[in-house]
Amino acid sequence: MVSSPHSYEVSFSGVGFLGAIIRDTKNATATIKIPMIRNMSILPNSDICETPCMTTNLAKQTDFDAIIIGAGACGLMCAVQAGYLGKRVLVLEKNDRPGAKILISGGGRCNYTNLYASPQQFISQNEHFCKSAFAQWSVEDTVTFFETYDIIGKEKTLGQLFPVSDKAKDVVNVFTNLCDDFGQELWCDAEVVGVEKVGEGFSVNVVRNGKEQNLLVPKVVMAAGGLPIPKMGATDLGLKTARKLGMKVTETAPALVPLTITGKDQDWYAQLSGNSLFCRVWNDKASFEENILFTHWGLSGPAILQISSYWRPGEWIYIDLLPHQNITELIQQEREANGKKMLLAYLSGLFTRKFAEAISDRLPADKNLASLSNADLENISGLIHEFKVKPAGDKGYDKAEVMRGGVSTDELSSKTLEAKKVPGLFFGGECVDVTGWLGGYNFQWAWASGFVIAQNL
Ligand SMILES: Cc1cc2nc3c(=O)[nH]c(=O)nc-3n(C[C@H](O)[C@H](O)[C@H](O)COP(=O)(O)OP(=O)(O)OC[C@H]3O[C@@H](n4cnc5c(N)ncnc54)[C@H](O)[C@@H]3O)c2cc1C
Repeated sequence: MVSSPHSYEVSFSGVGFLGAIIRDTKNATATIKIPMIRNMSILPNSDICETPCMTTNLAKQTDFDAIIIGAGACGLMCAVQAGYLGKRVLVLEKNDRPGAKILISGGGRCNYTNLYASPQQFISQNEHFCKSAFAQWSVEDTVTFFETYDIIGKEKTLGQLFPVSDKAKDVVNVFTNLCDDFGQELWCDAEVVGVEKVGEGFSVNVVRNGKEQNLLVPKVVMAAGGLPIPKMGATDLGLKTARKLGMKVTETAPALVPLTITGKDQDWYAQLSGNSLFCRVWNDKASFEENILFTHWGLSGPAILQISSYWRPGEWIYIDLLPHQNITELIQQEREANGKKMLLAYLSGLFTRKFAEAISDRLPADKNLASLSNADLENISGLIHEFKVKPAGDKGYDKAEVMRGGVSTDELSSKTLEAKKVPGLFFGGECVDVTGWLGGYNFQWAWASGFVIAQNL
């Protein structure tokens, strides 16, 4: 049993042992390097029907079992897992290279999973939805999968696993090499602009190198991600397609995003720009203990990013600036030995001098400890242990790590991630209403959903 820093418990065995687990049901060859099963040369469009005239049975018109839209974490895992099962896919990617977000993730080091991941760290209108996918593809599966391809994980903090090489590129290379080995086709600079249901299959409208084509295929995997960081290829294709096909989309918003402070308080935060503090941050829905970071425009740092996913405009958040300690008790102890010490000097020892000076404008800083009244102590305790913040907003999709909300889980089978109303269409990764905490959880969902979809193509 592993005790989690997030105050719940998970148990599993085998993590950390290279090749320790043979996963017959995942892929028969998990403990050996995957040989080149087939490396068929696929001439561009040689096996794709481009005609707009469709008959009903598209499965007979193309050799591809499916088109995967998006070569991100979910799409790449799906392509590789489909390869293990001998299924042939075409991956369409808008960017000029696959895995753009994997490459920048975790500061270029890729926090590819979290050892403590469980459904509790995912936000969704249906908190049970992700359970089936995680039962099919666990953290242990992620660890073993990457170890099989020489990516050994090291835990940084709070269960966050990074490659020992500290190179996100190594993670992407696992997928591109396997796609090559399996002969899976990957087109970059290929933006999908529309997906339509045609007969029993789909017409995928893609613009590749400025040329528009309609590709006909029996199944489509929507792994086009969410709205964050448009300059890195993000589009609303997943959401747009779902709506067009009559599916519900839950309200979307930036998540894991810094929060802004405007108005009269802005200068107070700006003066502390660059200061970082270990805190407990909470609201009525969640609570996190990690660092916060003061910036020129407000608050950032892991604890703020975490709470941002649970915050709605107009709401307050609360910060305990000295978690696990009691400032009243600390002051009482200190004044017995050192009653002449000024409050400012004492706070400077607990925090940085800069921070102590900043909060002193809200406290009787010019008093010595012995002369503090009970009302003063109450005031100090309130400020230190329940510092109230009403953010003006957030930094938006340009700075958000993920999108909250997405294609409604009501519309998808939790077991297969296939759209209930549109057989043959699958949604995985960030475009689905499943949003993880900071710390490798979102990749765990992307890998798991990619795996699940591949089993059902
Ligand atoms: C700065 C940053 C750091 C992060 N760090 C971490 C981390 O360390 N750990 C973690 O777990 N999560 C992290 N995340 C979140 C994580 O990157 C995402 O949750 C994850 O990438 C989602 O995977 P996905 O496959 O659903 O989408 P993506 O990885 O975004 O992939 C979607 C792909 O689809 C392509 N696409 C979009 N529209 C189209 C279209 N119309 N046609 C063709 N292609 C299209 C996009 O170009 C993209 O390549 C981070 C995110 C950011 C922004």
